Amino acid sequence: MSNLDPAPEAIALMPDVGLPGIHSAADVLEARKAAIGDGTEVRRLLPQRTLRTVGAWCFLDHYGPDDVSIGSGMRVPPHPHIGLQTVSWLFEGLVLHRDSLGSRQLIRPGELNLMTAGQGIAHSEESAAGRPAALHGLQLWIALPEQDRFIEPRFAQHADLPVVREGGAQVTVVIGEHRGERSPAEVFTPLAGLEVAVPGGDDFVLPVREDFEHAVIAVDGSAVVAGALVAPGLLAHLGAGLSEIRLSPAGGRRHARFFVLGGAPFGERLLMWWNFVGRSGQEIAHAREDWVAGRFGDVRGYPGEPLAAPPLPSIPLKPR
Ligand code: MN
Repeated sequence: MSNLDPAPEAIALMPDVGLPGIHSAADVLEARKAAIGDGTEVRRLLPQRTLRTVGAWCFLDHYGPDDVSIGSGMRVPPHPHIGLQTVSWLFEGLVLHRDSLGSRQLIRPGELNLMTAGQGIAHSEESAAGRPAALHGLQLWIALPEQDRFIEPRFAQHADLPVVREGGAQVTVVIGEHRGERSPAEVFTPLAGLEVAVPGGDDFVLPVREDFEHAVIAVDGSAVVAGALVAPGLLAHLGAGLSEIRLSPAGGRRHARFFVLGGAPFGERLLMWWNFVGRSGQEIAHAREDWVAGRFGDVRGYPGEPLAAPPLPSIPLKPR
């Protein structure tokens, strides 16, 4: 998926500076609405003015459930990426991914599509033929660290992720590790990405690494997390130093679903603009020129034109 804002703001991202001694309470942040594709509205939860990253997770959109049975559904035309990995994760729906490596892959609920842009890749995503009516999912980006950010692009699909059942709860290990079960997904910094389905009524305790910071988002249903209510459209940020996260589902739902992000705080400066994650304005401007000149390669078979690059902002792009 793509940032389709026609005039994207540059987001210069400094490492978050934590307050010493204040680690236990959740900081609850609200999504802002953003448009992708043909008017599809998403809840953008990362980055935020007050929270640039959670570990190396640097971008998070939550979309749907939307009815895509009418018309062409979701359509995100070919667009470029550098310096990041994209994680496409569906709760409902069927999406077709195409990229400039020649990959053509259906994205289904419970299966991870992981695209590593490295030095550069282009891709498209569209609602697939034969799809169910509902589309509901997450689009996440992971910033690549300095030593890996110019690697060759690659695409992987993981249909067989570990699922850990504990009582009535179920944890899908999308990225990283949980209770000794490890996702096969290749990442370049210490990270976790877990889908957590919890039965109503019972508290669920998720053991977590103390060196990780975390974010919890509600997919459906809501829960109290570290004293704060988390519902769809909200993100609870928890600083490093916790050994567990307690989810107390609210309401009488049979199950509530959450997605938990974790990672070692990412200390490198970043500059994000449009669909690029870099370190300098010059680098971002070069990536834009490369896209305009067709140097990212073709995404074959997408029924439509590639996305045009928006103009660079008049204020020079600089990391602060
Ligand atoms: Mn994309």
